[in-house]
Amino acid sequence: MSALPITNPLQKFIQKPTRGQAIKAKCAECMGCTAENAEPGFRSLIRDCTSRSCPLWTFRPYQAKPESPA
Ligand code: SF4
Repeated sequence: MSALPITNPLQKFIQKPTRGQAIKAKCAECMGCTAENAEPGFRSLIRDCTSRSCPLWTFRPYQAKPESPA
């Protein structure tokens, strides 16, 4: 039996501490997640984050990809 994939960014960071995982984990923590609990809807909260003065804002995960030209 294979293990379920880890979807909590804080747990992922513990498992694989890369720069990218650190940004995801910090944003998730900012939206109320802990290593034990992922807040419902945290991805869309991060995507819609309005704290433009945050140094991570440009690099936050789960942003909508720009549409490609037709
Ligand atoms: S970009 Fe937004 S969600 Fe991420 S750490 Fe900064 S304020 Fe929090």
